[in-house]
Amino acid sequence: MPEIYDLHCHSTASDGALSPTELVKRAHQQGVTALALTDHDTTAGLAEAKDCAMNTGIKLIFGIELSTNWHDQCLHIVGLGIDPAYPPLAEATQNLQRTRLERAEKVAHKLEKKNIPGALDAVIKAAGDGMITRTHFADFLVSQNHVSTRQEAFDRYLAKGKPAYVSTPWADLEQGINWITESGGIAVLAHPLRYKLTANWMKRLLTAFKEAGGQGIEVVTGRYNADEIRLAADYAKRFDLAGSTGSDFHSPDNEWVELGRLAPLPVNIKPVWELLH
Ligand code: AMP
Ligand code: MN
Ligand code: MN
Ligand code: MN
Repeated sequence: MPEIYDLHCHSTASDGALSPTELVKRAHQQGVTALALTDHDTTAGLAEAKDCAMNTGIKLIFGIELSTNWHDQCLHIVGLGIDPAYPPLAEATQNLQRTRLERAEKVAHKLEKKNIPGALDAVIKAAGDGMITRTHFADFLVSQNHVSTRQEAFDRYLAKGKPAYVSTPWADLEQGINWITESGGIAVLAHPLRYKLTANWMKRLLTAFKEAGGQGIEVVTGRYNADEIRLAADYAKRFDLAGSTGSDFHSPDNEWVELGRLAPLPVNIKPVWELLH
């Protein structure tokens, strides 16, 4: 049986469709042997996921996907093997919940100005105890027939530069990396090609990322094709970063992304899981 490491996915603790229990069960069914639950800015789903993992025999790695800011760009940093009880990290996630609620109020206000009322109540209800994300706004816009898909909701309202976009005061990249590494975790740059940075800016970013203590980069994600994997692997090699593999699974409704459905890590890349103990 091959080991399958899926080190990036979401539950209802943020913008995933499945509860932590449902997610772990599905990962197990898909043949995943080690799963990291990495919800946006929260560790609230980890305890439930751990309980389920112990019953199914899958290895659960405690994770998070932190939103950070670097040169006006929101960068996602996956933390693997973190300690959710580490006080500065726990405090940070508490604060981020408030930051996200305050942002949601502003987004809803902007939507109201576009004659779309009711968004705030809807996203608060949909998120429940979990983090409010733009995905919740996208689903609201679909449900009210303002758009027909999530993607269209981002393209017309929620993405940067669109009418309901609100910039968010995320912590700096260095601060985010510190919360992860000081809690005992490994910081991994998530989906490095999604930021559409030039080669020069990638060099600046990966230099800063390493200087701040970052150790890994996602080389294989649920959507990368062979060319993209080669490019990400090339960054891993050049900057001496360990490579991670993670689907970024959110929902069974997205037929393109499945838990554990990942190309293998290229053989010349050091696997990030070898850094986890
Ligand atoms: P937030 O962290 O609340 O700003 O929401 C970010 C989440 O929204 C991401 O993790 C994705 O799941 C989703 N998202 C961001 N941009 C897009 C997009 N262009 N299309 C679809 N989903 C997106
Ligand atoms: Mn998401
Ligand atoms: Mn992300
Ligand atoms: Mn993600």
